[in-house]
Amino acid sequence: MPVRALAYFLNAPGTPLLAHDLDLPDPGPGEALVEVLACGLCHTDLGFADGSVPPKHPLPLVLGHEVVGRVMATGDSGPRPPASGRSDLVVVPAVLPCGRCAFCCAGRGNACPDQKMPGNDIHGGFATHLLVPSAALVSLNDLPSHVDVREISVVADAVSTAYQAVRRAGLRAGDAAMVVGSGGVGGYVVQIARALGARVIACDVRRERLDLVAAHGAERTVLVDGRTPQEVRKEVHGIARSWGVASIDFRIFECSGTPQGQVLAFGLLSRAATLVQVGYTPKAVEVRLSNLMAFDATIHGTWGCPPAQYPDVLRLISQGQVVIAPFVEHAPMSRVNELLEAMAQHRLANRMILDPRS
Ligand SMILES: [Zn+2]
Ligand SMILES: [Zn+2]
Repeated sequence: MPVRALAYFLNAPGTPLLAHDLDLPDPGPGEALVEVLACGLCHTDLGFADGSVPPKHPLPLVLGHEVVGRVMATGDSGPRPPASGRSDLVVVPAVLPCGRCAFCCAGRGNACPDQKMPGNDIHGGFATHLLVPSAALVSLNDLPSHVDVREISVVADAVSTAYQAVRRAGLRAGDAAMVVGSGGVGGYVVQIARALGARVIACDVRRERLDLVAAHGAERTVLVDGRTPQEVRKEVHGIARSWGVASIDFRIFECSGTPQGQVLAFGLLSRAATLVQVGYTPKAVEVRLSNLMAFDATIHGTWGCPPAQYPDVLRLISQGQVVIAPFVEHAPMSRVNELLEAMAQHRLANRMILDPRS
């Protein structure tokens, strides 16, 4: 049965999203029709909406890539078993790899050139329903009843991206994790690094963010506002050394997505240390790349998270080692334009989770 969805379309960069009907056909082979229960509002959505990042799908496009929902139908033959409990609930990964190419076969599906990202390559989750490739959907069957399923929407990007960044860093128990930018993804890097046994130093320009992560895994916090990278380096390295951690076990995470944060994170490198670039800014920065040579240091990029890692992320949440509620707020999807505007003016303290049914 085709479905008529209510969807919020970006028709032109810099203009408000417009809500109207979208007729979705029955899912084809390898596709699933998902009823959206909640969709997170991400900074990337703002980039698409204001025109600073062009989406890959031509406009008009339905944005939104942090979707949790209910599978209503799949295009694959055979009757679906009757739903019980949470068995038909899924999180739609923000990066849906093809599963067949050289990248996917090497376990690097998050770099798959044929990946589909809802709200970028295909219509996304700012809608009551969406059609997605079904192979990479992650079941929430084992999610304990105390977890609010709507909060799992942010696993599709913010939390899973943080998890993959921590894996990419090769973080081990006892390492010093230095997190530059503690809002959004950075707040989850703090929690996940702590859950895996690292000692965490969080850096941010905002005191209130540091207070929040101090209550959720950051052992030490460093306010960087108005200070030079050299001053911050001295303090952060001093803390790590006071713990007896050698720089080979420094795991630096750049999560601010600002030129200043990138320069700061690069400046935290030391002998055999590891930096993972998590945040995004279109702006270029000037750094002395030869420091990598001199320090025998490593920098990794990271993008999204392979769906195969999601069950591990969900386990951390189910066990209460990663909490989402203090970092999010809920709002109806009908407020999406107002919230995009607030995000552009840096007035959103928390990540917004939108309900497309209101
Ligand atoms: Zn995102
Ligand atoms: Zn692939």
